Amino acid sequence: MTKIAEAIHQIENQLAGRATLIAVTKTKPLEALLEAYEAGCKTFGENKVQEMADKQANLPDDIAWHMIGHLQTNKVKYIAPFVTLIQSVDSLKLLQEINKQALKHNRVIDCLLQIYIAEEETKFGLDAAEAEALLNDPALEELTNIRIIGLMGLATNTDNEAQIRSEFKSLKRLYDQFKTIQRQNLAFRELSMGMSGDYLIAVEEGSTMVRVGSAIFGSRN
Ligand SMILES: *Cc1c(COP(=O)(O)O)cnc(C)c1O
Repeated sequence: MTKIAEAIHQIENQLAGRATLIAVTKTKPLEALLEAYEAGCKTFGENKVQEMADKQANLPDDIAWHMIGHLQTNKVKYIAPFVTLIQSVDSLKLLQEINKQALKHNRVIDCLLQIYIAEEETKFGLDAAEAEALLNDPALEELTNIRIIGLMGLATNTDNEAQIRSEFKSLKRLYDQFKTIQRQNLAFRELSMGMSGDYLIAVEEGSTMVRVGSAIFGSRN
């Protein structure tokens, strides 16, 4: 068994069906993605539009592609034909563009709102109030080709487990709160939190989707 396959099996065993494993394949070559695919992992996360579109065109059709990086509105069109889930939605303007492109392809594109939970200033995302305003915005009504199915967040990059856990707890609390909002294009069922260093904590705190890169593919340059 290859190292990649071994890592995937180990993580899947730890998750024990509690959360879906998203293999974060950014910067990794096609051969590495194929190894993961052959090990049974068919959901890949990428953070750059061009890289994702190139890889998608060269790999099997039954792979689910998740956009996990900051997405510019003018680039949505390149992934709209195939993307399975856009995890990094942080504005109404972006949702409107996703809706427009989804309509062109006669699709409904699932999205997560990216919530800012970390202490670092560099991370993208909405704060709780901004997300709540967006979920209640009347303009959502017209967006029949998107569906918001949950939230995504990144914890602070720290060794302080208590801090990571408390950030995940606050995201879970927000998720439970937003889940009660009733609108036609809201269908909360996914909470994407946890990466290589903290996915076990995330799952304990209610994650349904972990995004794991370096623990599968090794460190990135
Ligand atoms: C790169 C990335 C990951 C994976 O990070 P690892 O620490 O390599 O597991 C997860 N989520 C997002 C949003 C990322 O950009």
